Amino acid sequence: MSSEQTANILTECIERQGMMAVADNLSSHFPETAIVTVVVVCCFVATKSTYEYIKKRNRKLDLIIVGSGPIGLTTAIIAAQHSRISKITLYESKPKQNLFLRPQQISLDKRSIHFLKSLMIDFNAIEGCWQNDRFYTRVGTFQEHLLEILKKLDANLEIKFGCKFTGEIMRSISKNQNKKLGMIVVCDGVRGDTASLLGLSDEYILCSCNAYGAMASLDRMYHKHVAVPETSKHNFKLDLSAFGSEYRQPELSKPTFRFKIFGTYRHRYLTLSCPKNGSNVLRQLRITSDSSVIRHIFQESFNSYRTKHEKKISDMEAISMHCSRRMTEIKLSYRRENVALIEDENLIVSVEGDATRTINFHTGFEVNMGFRGLESIHQFITDITMANKKDLLIETLTQKVRHSQKVVDEFLRNGLSIPIHG
Ligand SMILES: Cc1cc2nc3c(=O)[nH]c(=O)nc-3n(C[C@H](O)[C@H](O)[C@H](O)COP(=O)(O)OP(=O)(O)OC[C@H]3O[C@@H](n4cnc5c(N)ncnc54)[C@H](O)[C@@H]3O)c2cc1C
Repeated sequence: MSSEQTANILTECIERQGMMAVADNLSSHFPETAIVTVVVVCCFVATKSTYEYIKKRNRKLDLIIVGSGPIGLTTAIIAAQHSRISKITLYESKPKQNLFLRPQQISLDKRSIHFLKSLMIDFNAIEGCWQNDRFYTRVGTFQEHLLEILKKLDANLEIKFGCKFTGEIMRSISKNQNKKLGMIVVCDGVRGDTASLLGLSDEYILCSCNAYGAMASLDRMYHKHVAVPETSKHNFKLDLSAFGSEYRQPELSKPTFRFKIFGTYRHRYLTLSCPKNGSNVLRQLRITSDSSVIRHIFQESFNSYRTKHEKKISDMEAISMHCSRRMTEIKLSYRRENVALIEDENLIVSVEGDATRTINFHTGFEVNMGFRGLESIHQFITDITMANKKDLLIETLTQKVRHSQKVVDEFLRNGLSIPIHG
């Protein structure tokens, strides 16, 4: 008979008759028997709590990760170093080589770097550059490094490249899982549909970042994909006198614009942002129907603040540049539901990275919000495996929701880092 069966039988007996009643009854008639009974009961209680403790301590999860972008791979690294994960399966719809070719640049701030270093990510081994405690690299290069780290960790890991996570895969997992507690972390990016496939609501909450912005991008195919630190110009004054008298009014007391150049030399991104204010220039840039106004601002500003290694934007290039027509409101959208318990399948779902929150404007910092979200995932896994009752499981999910909300609130407070004072 197993220790679990013994424990269950003893529990049943005690519950049926009432432990104290049994002890009282026995002690009045046979003192020795009473002592023996008390000892047996004490042993039972000690055995049962030890058994429960060991069971809790040893409970492990099988983890599925959907998407091997920066967030999916980082999740896999966290899980590979977690003693409570028995198996990791990572699904990525793209072939492996396509991942490493991703050209766009990511910039990582101090907090993300600190977090990633704690996971053994070695920034000295990644091609990129530093400026003001920030690290700049290509997404593809970064993913390649994350994958190398992951392979060095001694984990039970299976990566399925070129394999899209679908409803059919989900059904076969449910069939083979035998009700064992499992977890799926969805990191399938801004266009991913896995969360809705798993039954999570597709409702998004839109929040204003209290700022307006415009963007332009310039592809210079003769340049290499070299990571470049951003150039940022705060308190940027716009002289739009060439576009008519209504732009001319000086507003020196109002918060002013921020102009930024970032991305690799091959793919240059230019942004113009400004906190919401009643400035006349901002109002004009929000309603202008003349698409050449913003284009002209980007061309002139780039030519003034470009690095010494790059050429000015010519008039011909300016015409071919992708460019916002006017300044639009910068908004953060995030999923109303980003964790779930699928009771029938005994599965926990957590949605992370761009799949759960994005902004409609490339400030160059979005990826860091994804890492902020992952800061709670180690504890989340521990708490799930420790939760032996449904109430505790729900409490653990609630904690994760609270953390996600904190990430959003912090971003809305500081994320865009647009100067508030002029
Ligand atoms: C043009 C551009 C420029 C950018 N510039 C910057 C910048 O300068 N600085 C910065 O910080 N950030 C920048 N970003 C943002 C940054 O790239 C993202 O924030 C980051 O990649 C998000 O990581 P993620 O892992 O959440 O999602 P992603 O990187 O999008 O990864 C999602 C992965 O999931 C896979 N996938 C999707 N569906 C499935 C499925 N059903 N099954 C299996 N796999 C699936 C996809 O193939 C993809 O590999 C830029 C983004 C773009 C598009």
